[in-house]
Amino acid sequence: MADAAPRNPWKTATVVGIRPETPRAKTLRLKFEQPVEHMAGQYFIVRLTAPDGYTAQRSYSCASPPDGSNELELTIELLDGGEVSTYLHNVVEAGDELDVRGPIGLWFVWNGDHPACMIGGGSGVVPLMAMLRYARTTGKSDLVRLLVSVRSPADLYYADELPGPETTVIYTRQNPPGVNRASGRLRMTDVPEVADDATVYVCGSPDFCDSVTDLLIGNGVLAERIRVERFGPTGD
Ligand SMILES: Cc1cc2nc3c(=O)[nH]c(=O)nc-3n(C[C@H](O)[C@H](O)[C@H](O)COP(=O)(O)OP(=O)(O)OC[C@H]3O[C@@H](n4cnc5c(N)ncnc54)[C@H](O)[C@@H]3O)c2cc1C
Repeated sequence: MADAAPRNPWKTATVVGIRPETPRAKTLRLKFEQPVEHMAGQYFIVRLTAPDGYTAQRSYSCASPPDGSNELELTIELLDGGEVSTYLHNVVEAGDELDVRGPIGLWFVWNGDHPACMIGGGSGVVPLMAMLRYARTTGKSDLVRLLVSVRSPADLYYADELPGPETTVIYTRQNPPGVNRASGRLRMTDVPEVADDATVYVCGSPDFCDSVTDLLIGNGVLAERIRVERFGPTGD
């Protein structure tokens, strides 16, 4: 009997657009041959293969909302010396093909049917943006609250889309003009009120996730309501 087809095979995606989000983050728009069904919050794995066969692969969250199309977007932060992120930033051009596998992850997802409080640090906003966009495109914005923490205005991804009644941005090092909050790390007073039946999604660096989780639990949010996605090195 023939082997069953792999459940999540590698696919070829063509880069059909690249746009800067910040000086250190770019969004790649990828086009697949077939529609890609994904949920808001899931991620994909991108694999690079060198001419000698050496491969490197890393996980990247999907920034675009589920829409049944054959295109999706990944936003990549440039890490100095980073093997894959520097290639995706400095080498990849529109028209190039990438090996991509996914979607992956059934835990850090929002399917649009319950309240969500989303807290992201830096590039950790990426999967939360998919959730916010999904909420907006399906008319469910009243279910979501997004809190984004960045160092300065120049570090804010998706800046043109973030203003909105569901969103709050805090700046840890440098405020834009007109912001009265004293810059500094995220405090409980920054966190939107968490409805009793809300799931709290926390995403960012391991340090960010740990400090936000400690803050939430220290302020009475039940651990079972918190879902965390750490963007640390994966060793893939
Ligand atoms: C589930 C998941 C989803 C992710 N989604 C995104 C995303 O949407 N956008 C995005 O930009 N990244 C995302 N990441 C991180 C991404 O997978 C890579 O870790 C990152 O791009 C660095 O890879 P690199 O090959 O450039 O660096 P590497 O060559 O792996 O590492 C270079 C140096 O940077 C350090 N390093 C590695 N990763 C990180 C990191 N994330 N933060 C700080 N230092 C690091 C390493 O320890 C090393 O010192 C995600 C990670 C996970 C696990």
